[in-house]
Amino acid sequence: MNPNEARANMTGGRGKRGVPEGLWIRCPQCKATIFRKEAEVRLNVCPECEHHFYLPARERIRQLLDEESFEEWFTELRPCDPLGFKDRVPYAERLQAEQAKTGMADAAVVGRGFIRGRPVVFGVTDFAFMAGSMGSVVGEKLTRAAEEATRLQLPLIFVSGSGGGARMQEGILSLMQMAKVSAALGRYDQAGGLYISILTNPTMGGVAASFALQGDITLAEPKALIGFAGKRTIMQTVRLELPEGFQTSEFLFQHGFVDRIVARKDLRTELARVIDYCEH
Ligand SMILES: [Zn+2]
Repeated sequence: MNPNEARANMTGGRGKRGVPEGLWIRCPQCKATIFRKEAEVRLNVCPECEHHFYLPARERIRQLLDEESFEEWFTELRPCDPLGFKDRVPYAERLQAEQAKTGMADAAVVGRGFIRGRPVVFGVTDFAFMAGSMGSVVGEKLTRAAEEATRLQLPLIFVSGSGGGARMQEGILSLMQMAKVSAALGRYDQAGGLYISILTNPTMGGVAASFALQGDITLAEPKALIGFAGKRTIMQTVRLELPEGFQTSEFLFQHGFVDRIVARKDLRTELARVIDYCEH
Protein backbone atom coordinates (compact mmCIF):
# COMPACT_ATOMS: atom_id res chain seq x y z
CA MET A 1 0.00 0.00 0.00
CA ASN A 2 1.13 3.49 -0.76
CA PRO A 3 2.03 4.94 2.67
CA ASN A 4 0.51 8.34 1.91
CA GLU A 5 -2.74 6.80 0.84
CA ALA A 6 -2.78 4.55 3.90
CA ARG A 7 -2.03 7.47 6.18
CA ALA A 8 -4.85 9.47 4.63
CA ASN A 9 -7.17 6.51 5.25
CA MET A 10 -6.30 6.30 8.87
CA THR A 11 -6.40 9.98 9.66
CA GLY A 12 -9.47 10.50 7.54
CA GLY A 13 -7.74 12.99 5.33
CA ARG A 14 -8.49 16.71 5.37
CA GLY A 15 -11.65 18.03 6.93
CA LYS A 16 -14.09 20.16 4.98
CA ARG A 17 -13.67 23.90 5.07
CA GLY A 18 -14.92 25.32 8.36
CA VAL A 19 -15.15 21.93 9.98
CA PRO A 20 -12.40 21.07 12.48
CA GLU A 21 -9.98 18.66 10.89
CA GLY A 22 -10.75 15.04 11.48
CA LEU A 23 -14.37 15.46 12.56
CA TRP A 24 -15.44 13.75 9.37
CA ILE A 25 -13.82 10.83 7.62
CA ARG A 26 -14.19 9.76 4.06
CA CYS A 27 -14.53 6.02 3.68
CA PRO A 28 -12.02 4.78 1.08
CA GLN A 29 -14.30 1.88 0.17
CA CYS A 30 -17.81 3.35 -0.25
CA LYS A 31 -16.65 7.02 -0.44
CA ALA A 32 -19.29 8.06 2.07
CA THR A 33 -18.49 10.98 4.35
CA ILE A 34 -19.07 9.74 7.84
CA PHE A 35 -19.02 11.29 11.27
CA ARG A 36 -15.82 10.18 12.96
CA LYS A 37 -17.56 9.60 16.30
CA GLU A 38 -20.01 7.27 14.63
CA ALA A 39 -17.22 5.15 13.21
CA GLU A 40 -15.45 5.18 16.56
CA VAL A 41 -18.38 3.78 18.50
CA ARG A 42 -18.45 1.01 15.90
CA LEU A 43 -14.79 0.09 16.62
CA ASN A 44 -13.57 2.17 13.66
CA VAL A 45 -15.72 0.36 11.13
CA CYS A 46 -17.65 2.25 8.44
CA PRO A 47 -21.38 2.35 9.34
CA GLU A 48 -22.29 2.34 5.63
CA CYS A 49 -20.22 -0.51 4.20
CA GLU A 50 -18.36 -2.24 7.08
CA HIS A 51 -14.97 -1.06 5.85
CA HIS A 52 -12.45 -1.69 8.63
CA PHE A 53 -10.38 1.43 9.22
CA TYR A 54 -6.87 1.42 10.67
CA LEU A 55 -6.62 0.96 14.44
CA PRO A 56 -3.71 2.18 16.56
CA ALA A 57 -2.04 -0.47 18.73
CA ARG A 58 -3.43 1.02 21.96
CA GLU A 59 -6.94 0.99 20.58
CA ARG A 60 -6.53 -2.62 19.46
CA ILE A 61 -5.48 -3.57 22.97
CA ARG A 62 -8.47 -1.73 24.41
CA GLN A 63 -10.84 -3.51 22.04
CA LEU A 64 -9.51 -7.04 22.46
CA LEU A 65 -8.30 -7.34 26.04
CA ASP A 66 -10.27 -7.11 29.26
CA GLU A 67 -10.37 -3.63 30.70
CA GLU A 68 -7.19 -2.58 32.51
CA SER A 69 -5.78 -6.10 32.17
CA PHE A 70 -2.86 -5.32 29.86
CA GLU A 71 0.61 -5.27 31.37
CA GLU A 72 3.12 -4.00 28.82
CA TRP A 73 6.54 -5.64 28.65
CA PHE A 74 10.01 -4.58 27.45
CA THR A 75 9.17 -0.89 27.23
CA GLU A 76 12.86 -0.13 27.77
CA LEU A 77 13.77 -1.37 24.26
CA ARG A 78 14.66 1.54 21.99
CA PRO A 79 15.66 1.51 18.33
CA CYS A 80 19.17 2.53 17.40
CA ASP A 81 20.88 3.50 14.19
CA PRO A 82 23.90 1.19 13.78
CA LEU A 83 24.48 2.12 10.12
CA GLY A 84 24.11 5.87 10.51
CA PHE A 85 21.61 5.43 7.71
CA LYS A 86 20.37 8.35 5.69
CA ASP A 87 17.83 8.46 2.87
CA ARG A 88 15.80 11.63 2.47
CA VAL A 89 16.29 12.21 6.19
CA PRO A 90 18.70 10.56 8.61
CA TYR A 91 17.16 7.47 10.22
CA ALA A 92 17.81 8.89 13.71
CA GLU A 93 15.70 11.94 12.85
CA ARG A 94 13.01 9.83 11.27
CA LEU A 95 12.79 7.75 14.44
CA GLN A 96 12.36 10.84 16.58
CA ALA A 97 9.61 12.14 14.32
CA GLU A 98 7.78 8.79 14.34
CA GLN A 99 8.07 8.57 18.10
CA ALA A 100 6.66 12.07 18.52
CA LYS A 101 3.82 11.34 16.08
CA THR A 102 2.72 8.01 17.58
CA GLY A 103 3.83 8.22 21.21
CA MET A 104 5.44 4.80 20.71
CA ALA A 105 9.14 3.88 21.01
CA ASP A 106 8.85 1.62 17.96
CA ALA A 107 6.22 -0.22 15.91
CA ALA A 108 5.30 -3.07 18.28
CA VAL A 109 3.64 -3.38 21.67
CA VAL A 110 3.76 -6.69 23.58
CA GLY A 111 2.67 -7.83 27.01
CA ARG A 112 0.29 -9.94 28.98
CA GLY A 113 -3.45 -9.55 29.42
CA PHE A 114 -6.78 -11.30 29.60
CA ILE A 115 -9.41 -12.04 26.96
CA ARG A 116 -12.76 -12.61 28.62
CA GLY A 117 -10.89 -13.91 31.66
CA ARG A 118 -8.41 -16.07 29.75
CA PRO A 119 -4.75 -15.14 30.29
CA VAL A 120 -2.75 -14.57 27.08
CA VAL A 121 0.51 -13.13 25.83
CA PHE A 122 -0.38 -10.45 23.30
CA GLY A 123 1.52 -8.48 20.68
CA VAL A 124 0.53 -5.98 18.00
CA THR A 125 2.35 -4.11 15.25
CA ASP A 126 1.21 -0.59 14.40
CA PHE A 127 1.16 0.70 10.83
CA ALA A 128 1.45 4.29 12.00
CA PHE A 129 5.07 3.79 13.07
CA MET A 130 7.16 3.49 9.89
CA ALA A 131 4.43 1.39 8.26
CA GLY A 132 4.80 -1.22 11.01
CA SER A 133 8.08 -2.42 9.56
CA MET A 134 10.11 -4.96 11.52
CA GLY A 135 13.27 -3.38 12.81
CA SER A 136 15.37 -4.84 15.62
CA VAL A 137 13.04 -3.64 18.36
CA VAL A 138 9.92 -5.11 16.76
CA GLY A 139 11.70 -8.43 16.19
CA GLU A 140 13.14 -8.49 19.69
CA LYS A 141 9.83 -7.69 21.37
CA LEU A 142 7.92 -10.35 19.43
CA THR A 143 10.68 -12.90 20.08
CA ARG A 144 10.68 -12.21 23.80
CA ALA A 145 6.88 -12.36 23.85
CA ALA A 146 7.01 -15.82 22.24
CA GLU A 147 9.66 -16.89 24.77
CA GLU A 148 7.60 -15.64 27.68
CA ALA A 149 4.52 -17.41 26.32
CA THR A 150 6.61 -20.60 26.20
CA ARG A 151 7.84 -20.15 29.76
CA LEU A 152 4.42 -19.22 31.16
CA GLN A 153 2.61 -21.82 28.99
CA LEU A 154 0.09 -19.25 27.79
CA PRO A 155 -1.66 -18.81 24.44
CA LEU A 156 0.08 -16.30 22.19
CA ILE A 157 -1.76 -13.78 20.01
CA PHE A 158 -0.12 -11.44 17.51
CA VAL A 159 -2.07 -8.86 15.55
CA SER A 160 -0.23 -7.75 12.41
CA GLY A 161 -0.71 -4.41 10.72
CA SER A 162 2.45 -3.88 8.72
CA GLY A 163 2.74 -2.46 5.24
CA GLY A 164 6.35 -3.43 4.89
CA GLY A 165 8.54 -6.17 6.12
CA ALA A 166 12.11 -5.49 6.92
CA ARG A 167 13.09 -1.98 7.91
CA MET A 168 15.71 -1.18 5.32
CA GLN A 169 17.26 1.55 7.47
CA GLU A 170 18.58 -1.17 9.80
CA GLY A 171 19.98 -3.32 6.99
CA ILE A 172 20.91 -6.90 7.83
CA LEU A 173 19.92 -6.45 11.48
CA SER A 174 16.37 -5.99 10.31
CA LEU A 175 16.44 -9.01 7.98
CA MET A 176 17.66 -11.22 10.83
CA GLN A 177 14.48 -10.56 12.80
CA MET A 178 12.40 -12.78 10.51
CA ALA A 179 14.53 -15.82 11.37
CA LYS A 180 14.76 -14.89 15.04
CA VAL A 181 11.00 -14.57 15.57
CA SER A 182 10.38 -17.71 13.52
CA ALA A 183 12.84 -19.70 15.64
CA ALA A 184 11.18 -18.53 18.87
CA LEU A 185 7.77 -19.47 17.44
CA GLY A 186 9.20 -22.88 16.48
CA ARG A 187 10.32 -23.50 20.07
CA TYR A 188 6.95 -22.32 21.34
CA ASP A 189 5.26 -24.76 18.95
CA GLN A 190 7.45 -27.65 20.12
CA ALA A 191 6.45 -26.86 23.68
CA GLY A 192 2.83 -27.28 22.63
CA GLY A 193 1.81 -23.62 22.62
CA LEU A 194 -1.21 -22.19 20.83
CA TYR A 195 -0.35 -19.28 18.54
CA ILE A 196 -3.19 -17.32 16.99
CA SER A 197 -2.23 -14.85 14.28
CA ILE A 198 -4.62 -12.05 13.33
CA LEU A 199 -4.02 -10.41 9.97
CA THR A 200 -5.23 -6.86 9.52
CA ASN A 201 -4.91 -4.35 6.71
CA PRO A 202 -2.16 -4.37 5.52
CA THR A 203 0.04 -7.40 6.32
CA MET A 204 2.86 -7.47 3.77
CA GLY A 205 6.54 -8.16 3.19
CA GLY A 206 8.75 -9.79 5.77
CA VAL A 207 6.03 -9.60 8.40
CA ALA A 208 3.78 -11.77 6.22
CA ALA A 209 6.81 -13.88 5.32
CA SER A 210 7.54 -14.69 8.95
CA PHE A 211 5.42 -14.58 12.10
CA ALA A 212 2.13 -13.38 10.60
CA LEU A 213 1.66 -16.51 8.48
CA GLN A 214 3.02 -19.00 11.01
CA GLY A 215 -0.06 -19.17 13.24
CA ASP A 216 -1.63 -22.43 14.38
CA ILE A 217 -4.85 -20.56 13.73
CA THR A 218 -4.89 -17.65 11.27
CA LEU A 219 -7.73 -15.15 11.47
CA ALA A 220 -8.13 -12.10 9.24
CA GLU A 221 -10.24 -8.97 9.31
CA PRO A 222 -12.47 -8.55 6.23
CA LYS A 223 -10.87 -7.23 3.03
CA ALA A 224 -7.40 -6.81 4.50
CA LEU A 225 -4.51 -6.60 2.05
CA ILE A 226 -2.27 -9.60 2.76
CA GLY A 227 0.71 -10.67 0.71
CA PHE A 228 4.46 -10.66 0.30
CA ALA A 229 5.49 -8.43 -2.60
CA GLY A 230 3.21 -5.72 -3.92
CA LYS A 231 0.96 -6.41 -6.88
CA ARG A 232 2.96 -4.29 -9.31
CA THR A 233 6.23 -5.99 -8.39
CA ILE A 234 4.71 -9.42 -8.95
CA MET A 235 3.22 -8.47 -12.30
CA GLN A 236 6.55 -7.11 -13.47
CA THR A 237 8.25 -10.33 -12.39
CA VAL A 238 5.87 -13.03 -13.61
CA ARG A 239 4.30 -11.01 -16.46
CA LEU A 240 0.91 -12.62 -15.94
CA GLU A 241 -2.51 -11.18 -15.23
CA LEU A 242 -3.21 -11.63 -11.53
CA PRO A 243 -6.55 -13.05 -10.40
CA GLU A 244 -9.39 -10.83 -9.17
CA GLY A 245 -9.26 -10.06 -5.46
CA PHE A 246 -5.69 -11.35 -5.25
CA GLN A 247 -4.00 -10.63 -1.88
CA THR A 248 -7.20 -10.07 0.08
CA SER A 249 -8.44 -11.87 3.19
CA GLU A 250 -11.28 -13.38 1.15
CA PHE A 251 -8.98 -14.72 -1.57
CA LEU A 252 -6.61 -16.24 0.98
CA PHE A 253 -9.53 -17.75 2.87
CA GLN A 254 -10.79 -19.40 -0.31
CA HIS A 255 -7.34 -20.83 -0.95
CA GLY A 256 -6.80 -22.13 2.55
CA PHE A 257 -4.23 -19.67 3.85
CA VAL A 258 -6.64 -18.04 6.30
CA ASP A 259 -8.80 -20.14 8.63
CA ARG A 260 -11.56 -17.64 9.25
CA ILE A 261 -12.49 -14.07 8.41
CA VAL A 262 -13.75 -12.33 11.51
CA ALA A 263 -15.41 -8.91 11.70
CA ARG A 264 -13.84 -6.65 14.27
CA LYS A 265 -16.87 -6.65 16.55
CA ASP A 266 -16.68 -10.46 16.82
CA LEU A 267 -12.92 -10.78 17.22
CA ARG A 268 -12.76 -10.86 21.01
CA THR A 269 -15.45 -13.51 21.35
CA GLU A 270 -13.90 -15.55 18.56
CA LEU A 271 -10.48 -15.48 20.26
CA ALA A 272 -11.98 -16.65 23.56
CA ARG A 273 -13.77 -19.43 21.71
CA VAL A 274 -10.66 -20.60 19.84
CA ILE A 275 -8.63 -20.63 23.08
CA ASP A 276 -11.31 -22.70 24.84
CA TYR A 277 -11.57 -25.09 21.93
CA CYS A 278 -7.82 -25.68 21.74
CA GLU A 279 -7.09 -25.82 25.44
CA HIS A 280 -9.84 -28.09 26.69
ZN1 LIG B 1 -17.73 2.78 3.83
